[in-house]
Amino acid sequence: MRLILLGPPGAGKGTQARRLTHMYNICQLATGDMLRAHIAAEDEIGSRVKEIMASGQLVPDELMIEMIRNRITQPDCAKGFILDGFPRTVPQAQALDKMLSDLNLKLDSVIKLQVREEDLLRRIEGRYSCGDCGASYHKEFQPTKVPGVCDECGGDHFVVRPDDNPEKMKIRLQAFREQTTPILPYYEGKRILSTVDGMAEIGEVSNQIDDVLSEIA
Ligand code: ADP
Ligand code: AMP
Repeated sequence: MRLILLGPPGAGKGTQARRLTHMYNICQLATGDMLRAHIAAEDEIGSRVKEIMASGQLVPDELMIEMIRNRITQPDCAKGFILDGFPRTVPQAQALDKMLSDLNLKLDSVIKLQVREEDLLRRIEGRYSCGDCGASYHKEFQPTKVPGVCDECGGDHFVVRPDDNPEKMKIRLQAFREQTTPILPYYEGKRILSTVDGMAEIGEVSNQIDDVLSEIA
């Protein structure tokens, strides 16, 4: 199973991707998480992207394409992958196509999570994640079962992203509108694009995604 979850920041891509990786035993390629890991490691890529990410703008295509190219052939992606946060531009989508055709692999589905813009801010302002395993939570919509303890790994330290604020969100949404939405007709043309109501409750969004995937399985 190879799929893309597409949607603006805060749409619920990471939340849904995490569940699907367990379900299908496939890897989650969350480019934002990969970049944040480079920043945390204070390596060369991290230093190149730190300022750009903090500003809410997109990192150059070549760097992102290379990062994905290196990952999709790793053993943990042998059964497939979920792209969460990639592609974000038409050149990235085209490069992905080329990569997959060179490897003789096929993209099964592109699922768009549709969420009203005015609701996204509330999503990202309440978002926090486990500093140990990365599980994502929301103060209001998806708190940990036991306050202060991660449901998945029992960790007790949580992080809030520096770009999850109204000022940066404005720039991130603009990047989504201007650079990412032109991807949609690209996948529509290939007849692999499905839209899911991302405004529904988390479990209901999962059900809708399962319906889409059961049709192609
Ligand atoms: P993305 O990966 O698209 O940026 P996340 O999956 O991190 O988005 O979700 C953003 C925030 O919204 C998180 O705090 C998450 O717990 C919460 N969330 C995700 N899906 C829903 C939903 N369907 N309804 C309410 N809150 C949600
Ligand atoms: P995310 O965690 O998906 O919200 O991504 C956080 C930030 O990482 C974005 O605002 C961009 O700066 C950068 N980023 C993540 N994925 C990509 C991508 N595919 N192309 C360009 N920039 C990206």
